[in-house]
Amino acid sequence: ADLPHEDFRCGAVALVGRPNVGKSTLLNALIGFRLSIVSPRPQTTRHRILGIATSEAGQVMYVDTPGLHRGAKRAMNRSLNRAARTAMAEVDLAVQLIEAGRWTDEDEALYAALVEQNVPRLLAINKVDLAKDKGALLPFVADLAARHLFEDIHYVSALKQKGLKELERAILQRLPVRPPVFGEDEITDRSERFLAAEMVREQLMLRLDQELPYATTVEIEQFKDRDDGVTEIHAVIWVERDGQKAIVIGQGGAQLKAIGSAARRHMERLFERKVFLKLWVKVREGWVDDEAMLKKLGYTD
Ligand code: GDP
Ligand code: MG
Repeated sequence: ADLPHEDFRCGAVALVGRPNVGKSTLLNALIGFRLSIVSPRPQTTRHRILGIATSEAGQVMYVDTPGLHRGAKRAMNRSLNRAARTAMAEVDLAVQLIEAGRWTDEDEALYAALVEQNVPRLLAINKVDLAKDKGALLPFVADLAARHLFEDIHYVSALKQKGLKELERAILQRLPVRPPVFGEDEITDRSERFLAAEMVREQLMLRLDQELPYATTVEIEQFKDRDDGVTEIHAVIWVERDGQKAIVIGQGGAQLKAIGSAARRHMERLFERKVFLKLWVKVREGWVDDEAMLKKLGYTD
């Protein structure tokens, strides 16, 4: 395709919604790539990630926001909130995502923030695959629409990839006519180094119980393309206490091994080459409250 033609559209779109509504799943579905990490846990997404979808009609730069978090006491939560607010202010359009049949105080607060920032917004009602009685959704939506101003309302299932074409069309239609910012093949503004850390973190989210994943983070100490075509990656998993270190490592190192091999497989698929991944677990007390450490790890701008 010869890009761009004269009515090619391009703009930034924030995916906004409370934790767990499916923003990252939607982002991945929209760009056709498993880019943003997904888990059943809230706060899986700590960073702002740009996902780029380019078609004949235009280029959409989706921003998967970490969401606004309550309890802004800890430095981590403060930086998440900062990221979420910046993301909202800088976009051409917002897609507010909610769960079918649920509108919570948190959804209302996010809506109010969009109105306050004067961002044009669409509503996407996600997880419609879970709604047993689809007809019962109509009064819920009618009531919502009566009290809130959205340019358009869409029913989608990010997981089952339903309703996404229509949503994409509605999004593109509202973006400015403008040449593309990124190349046709680019899917993110993030480096492979960053994505590698996210992939290790995804495994921690999926494999560790309860609060432990929130006490861990991942730092890439080395990312080197070797002469033999293999990319050698050294990653440190930071934890807050010795007890947590033991859990991450597991009986005879089994847990760490499982985390490493799953993360490595995902990296090889994403980077399209062989990866040699080496993991360490290190203790650093109170990193979640340490602004300097957060900065080093890339949590704050
Ligand atoms: P985020 O916190 O808003 O980014 O939410 P995620 O994308 O991480 O998704 C949270 C959970 O909801 C995951 O377990 C997803 O698999 C699940 N999920 C997302 N979209 C859908 C959907 O359309 N239908 C169903 N049934 N589950 C979904
Ligand atoms: Mg997410």
